[in-house]
Amino acid sequence: MYRKPIIIAGGGIGGLAAALGLAQKGFDVTVLERAPQLGEIGAGIQLGPNAFHAFDYLGVGDAARAMAVYVDKLRLMDAMTAEDICSVDLGEKFRRRFGNPYGVVHRGDLHGVFQRACRESQRITLRTGCAVIGYEQDGTTVTVRLFSGETVTGSMLIGADGLWSRVREQVVGDGKPRVTGHTTYRSVIPTERMPEDLRWNAATLWAGPKCHIVHYPLSGWKVFNLVVTYHNDAPEPVAGLSVPEEEVLAGFRHVHPRAQDIIRHGQDWKLWVLCDRDPVENWIDGRVALLGDAAHPTLQYMAQGACMAMEDAVCLSHELARQPDAPDAALEAYRRSRVLRTARIQLTSREVGQHIYHPAGPHALLRNAIMSAKTDEDWYDSLAWLYGSSGLDSKATS
Ligand SMILES: Cc1cc2nc3c(=O)[nH]c(=O)nc-3n(C[C@H](O)[C@H](O)[C@H](O)COP(=O)(O)OP(=O)(O)OC[C@H]3O[C@@H](n4cnc5c(N)ncnc54)[C@H](O)[C@@H]3O)c2cc1C
Repeated sequence: MYRKPIIIAGGGIGGLAAALGLAQKGFDVTVLERAPQLGEIGAGIQLGPNAFHAFDYLGVGDAARAMAVYVDKLRLMDAMTAEDICSVDLGEKFRRRFGNPYGVVHRGDLHGVFQRACRESQRITLRTGCAVIGYEQDGTTVTVRLFSGETVTGSMLIGADGLWSRVREQVVGDGKPRVTGHTTYRSVIPTERMPEDLRWNAATLWAGPKCHIVHYPLSGWKVFNLVVTYHNDAPEPVAGLSVPEEEVLAGFRHVHPRAQDIIRHGQDWKLWVLCDRDPVENWIDGRVALLGDAAHPTLQYMAQGACMAMEDAVCLSHELARQPDAPDAALEAYRRSRVLRTARIQLTSREVGQHIYHPAGPHALLRNAIMSAKTDEDWYDSLAWLYGSSGLDSKATS
């Protein structure tokens, strides 16, 4: 059945996590990455306990844990008044409830953990400079076409080629991603540049009208991650463009000086105009399946895109190993298991952006009133469907 390797298009966090999961189940895997080198553009990501469940399943739990900073709380500040709205305790009580911690990690460090584990596996071939442009299949094999004109044949193709997935174009054919009009600017700064009175061991969100600022420590407290977002109805997708500080500040003139000041500590700002998509159900075309952002790209407001990609990898490996003689049924089980949970993330991220990150006036006052009235237990209960679940049970409701 699997005389040829499983091909994975894309060597991002999702693609490498899937390669690792499949190799550990005894499948040979070839990863085809478009970029000349494997890697991630620097910045941080937040990892809920569900990400740590995935690391453990994929056999990189210790290595990933060693890279993470364990923040004590999720802290929500009002960017107009510079006052605390609420915080969620991520200490012992949280860890006991969800069986794992909440961490923040540099993307490059996390990608490095997966890369090293993939390179150590005899079953995984990593190829760079291989842009996938399409595929053909005959019922038992899939032949992938590369931009170079080369073809690569495998027993299956997993499209983990991100937001602008070429594999999705063929599987779903739903056109370009939706440009959300939210512009994000990212900067990673040495910890010394961060004002001492803001060096909190927290994933902190300053929420303001149509804008917000996020910061947290990374890489053993050597650096701070700054991410600021402005809902300015930007019309075109952009990724990783360098911009001057003045441009970043322009969207934050209306917030409290203390919040504005955080931006002045940034350096080498880079801009992204964010995109997402509506959830879809058809992730499978014969022996071809989508995974990660290729399947369910989301706004970042639940901090779950990469976590979901890793959960997908867990679920896919689990289902293929459970039914090795029935790949079609295994892919269908994977799809069925993942669609609702990831759809909830996509839709909730939009809602959270609108009602928690960006409201103004009475809408913001109502947010403050509702959120400050919640206890830690309230928060934990409302997040149980997400953090208390994993790629193995893929809960979408609680
Ligand atoms: C501002 C921001 C903050 C975020 N914060 C968080 C967070 O805190 N927590 C979290 O979990 N998630 C977060 N995310 C989401 C997370 O970054 C993504 O969901 C995750 O990186 C998706 O991984 P992926 O492997 O599916 O796709 P990608 O990371 O996009 O990887 C796709 C790979 O495929 C390659 N590729 C593309 N096209 C081709 C092709 N044709 N052929 C071959 N290879 C190709 C690319 O070069 C890339 O290496 C955030 C996103 C943003 C924008």
